[in-house]
Amino acid sequence: MRKYFQLGGLFFRRKEGYVKAVDGVNMEIEKGKTVALVGESGCGKTTLGRTILRLIEPTSGEIYFEGKNILKLNKREMMRMRRNMQLVQQDPQSALNPRMTIKASVGEPLIVHGIAKGRELRERVLSLLEKVGLREEHMNRFPHELSGGQRQRVCIARALALNPKFIVLDEPTSSLDVSVQAQILNLLKKLQRELSLTYLFISHDLSVVRYISDHVYVMYLGKIVEHADMEEIFENPLHPYTKILFSAVPIPDPKLKRERLIIKGDVPSAINPPSGCRFHPRCPEAMKICSEEEPPLLEVRKGHFVACHLY
Ligand code: SF4
Repeated sequence: MRKYFQLGGLFFRRKEGYVKAVDGVNMEIEKGKTVALVGESGCGKTTLGRTILRLIEPTSGEIYFEGKNILKLNKREMMRMRRNMQLVQQDPQSALNPRMTIKASVGEPLIVHGIAKGRELRERVLSLLEKVGLREEHMNRFPHELSGGQRQRVCIARALALNPKFIVLDEPTSSLDVSVQAQILNLLKKLQRELSLTYLFISHDLSVVRYISDHVYVMYLGKIVEHADMEEIFENPLHPYTKILFSAVPIPDPKLKRERLIIKGDVPSAINPPSGCRFHPRCPEAMKICSEEEPPLLEVRKGHFVACHLY
């Protein structure tokens, strides 16, 4: 799949280029599993997550959900399909309407899809709130009357309202305190077990990724540069970019020391990405070929894929 954003709006359409936010990504998410998507800010993670849900239309490519290409669905069919696929955003404060009570926010999708009203709606909302660890007393409150963790619980309840099968979790814990983060992660795990949910977990926090995911995709400047099962990639990262990212993960043993690798410079612009391997201007192991040829994503160990000329 590709997602390019045109620069300059209508006025400058002829002169300007494109931001290549997602540039030829192939990804598979197995039912009932948590796939993590990691990378620095601005690498295209959020765009990819939203495009998978078709909240943004891709420039080209295909998106299959349970064998159906959702890009071929018309508006009505897509509305039905949307029940299966939901999003939980990073900032619960901005995800909730400050003028709506919690009951109204969580009940909104049920009303929009014509699923419940009146007494049934109230009962459904209450049961959703209880599922995420909130109580009846929270129903008539407004978002500002809740803590950050409680607001994120409300967003999760809202995402669960239509009984989805798949949820994109876009940095769901990054705006929360560490102690609250752990509670939300445990809640997400519990809900996954109970409701057989499938997650795409977008994050730059690798400690969190290690805790929650089954498989990890590493993204750099619109491309997937490495992916493997969680344990394999944490034990044996191969791509120089992954090695640098993962060297920052704390080891929970004070006797063990790991050399912290530092990455040079900032992520280059996605308007004119570097030639060949996009990581070559920052890569400590770059060779001549790296700026000339783009490395393909190849399986170098069983189930472990990497795009790098070193392999
Ligand atoms: Fe570094 Fe070259 Fe591998 Fe890119 S292809 S990560 S520049 S060694």
